[in-house]
Amino acid sequence: MLDKSTSSEATQAAEAPSAQTVSAARKIYKIVKYGDPILEKPTTPVKNFDSGLEQLAEDMFASMYAAQGVGLAAPQIGLTLRIAVVDVTGGKNPEAKIVLANPEIIHAEGEKREEEGCLSIPGFRGYVIRPQFVTIKAQNAKGEAFEIRGEDLLARAFCHEIDHLNGILFIQHLSMLKRDLIKRKIKKLKKQGEW
Ligand SMILES: [Zn+2]
Repeated sequence: MLDKSTSSEATQAAEAPSAQTVSAARKIYKIVKYGDPILEKPTTPVKNFDSGLEQLAEDMFASMYAAQGVGLAAPQIGLTLRIAVVDVTGGKNPEAKIVLANPEIIHAEGEKREEEGCLSIPGFRGYVIRPQFVTIKAQNAKGEAFEIRGEDLLARAFCHEIDHLNGILFIQHLSMLKRDLIKRKIKKLKKQGEW
């Protein structure tokens, strides 16, 4: 509980003085784990689309890639801000990077049951039913509005991240039995100092 979620570690390599173009050293945030109340709080809408927000989004991508995730929401780095990043290619395709500021689902279709996990609940997975297709509207880091449709994993990532921004974790979609089992195991891990 005392795990201060806003803490961060600058594990990024020092900026090379050589020809390494303009890419600034990215901040790699520590990912907040289940049990920190910030994960279950609602977020506040993004209002200031300034260079700081663009930096934050890039740092979130870097933190997500470092943790080998395909999505990361602000509460997971200790911020109650309505922003998330998604890249289902895991950094392989720069075009697949999606910043979701103030995202909202405007259409959902179909159903798909797949195993899901979360960077804030490492080591645990469970089957969650999500829409197969989802259309969302959101703003990018510059504040420009857009709509995007996702299918399968992308639709799942959109739903999972928007859930985060509403203080909802994937385990809340599991059966009570499965959820309690996970909670008990986490409690045990905490006692052992392994969480
Ligand atoms: Zn998650």
